Amino acid sequence: MKRNWEALVLKAMGGRDFRLTVLGTESVGTHYRRLHVDGGGLLQACGVHPTMWIRMWFDNDGRPHQRAYTLVDPDPATGRFHLEFALHDGCAARWASTARVGDTIDATVQGSSFTLPDPAPRHLYLVGDAASLPAVNSLLDAAADIPATVWLEYAHEGEQALTPRARTDHEVTWVPRRDDGRHLVDTVCAALSARDGAHYWVAGEAGSTRAVTRHLRRTLGVGRDRVTSLGYWSAR
Ligand SMILES: Cc1cc2nc3c(=O)[nH]c(=O)nc-3n(C[C@H](O)[C@H](O)[C@H](O)COP(=O)(O)OP(=O)(O)OC[C@H]3O[C@@H](n4cnc5c(N)ncnc54)[C@H](O)[C@@H]3O)c2cc1C
Repeated sequence: MKRNWEALVLKAMGGRDFRLTVLGTESVGTHYRRLHVDGGGLLQACGVHPTMWIRMWFDNDGRPHQRAYTLVDPDPATGRFHLEFALHDGCAARWASTARVGDTIDATVQGSSFTLPDPAPRHLYLVGDAASLPAVNSLLDAAADIPATVWLEYAHEGEQALTPRARTDHEVTWVPRRDDGRHLVDTVCAALSARDGAHYWVAGEAGSTRAVTRHLRRTLGVGRDRVTSLGYWSAR
């Protein structure tokens, strides 16, 4: 597939390219698909961190279509990891739903960075959905000893079977996607407070992510350094 200007810009910004090979596929319910892949040297070259994501290049009728996906259980010893796709009517999701063992796809590593604050937060507040569940899980793994309050929006009943990696001190609430995401925003904003030593991580639909972040920053006065937020997809 021919690369476009985006690829050139990413290259100029230090992006590193790899070819992934599908080693296994697994459907999780009707709206989620997990692929096991070989990273083509990606993990060894770039290292790993919680919430680490890559830019994958999907073929959209011969045109490159770049979308971000999160590494699940990356294993630098074998160079392998999983990718988990929330399925909807999109090019990336369609590729994942038909991917077979032996298929390959190109990926660029550029822009992903996250480290848990040091000293460690006293409490984590995480807001996500099926698309950001892999990132939420990587945070729960990395912060296994830190109490966490998690809200996850679900669009389909089956998504609640996705089992977040919560431990004893992690409280998870599933919230149905209603009113174009307004229900999640209202639920989360009503429950959040500005708490000393807490870190807030928000990643879901772009409009909802902006609304929760605005509430944290403007209404609750939480400092910029204590909020991490990124829209993971846009409702259109
Ligand atoms: C840093 C980062 C990491 C991410 N990691 C993951 C991951 O590990 N797993 C994962 O599933 N997603 C992840 N995402 C989200 C994923 O990149 C988007 O969902 C992307 O838009 C999917 O591309 P597409 O080509 O399938 O659909 P697009 O062409 O972008 O959109 C097509 C249609 O599908 C709708 N749509 C797109 N995404 C969703 C969704 N999640 N739910 C409902 N409707 C949707 C759009 O509104 C549009 O109508 C991540 C995003 C970011 C920014």
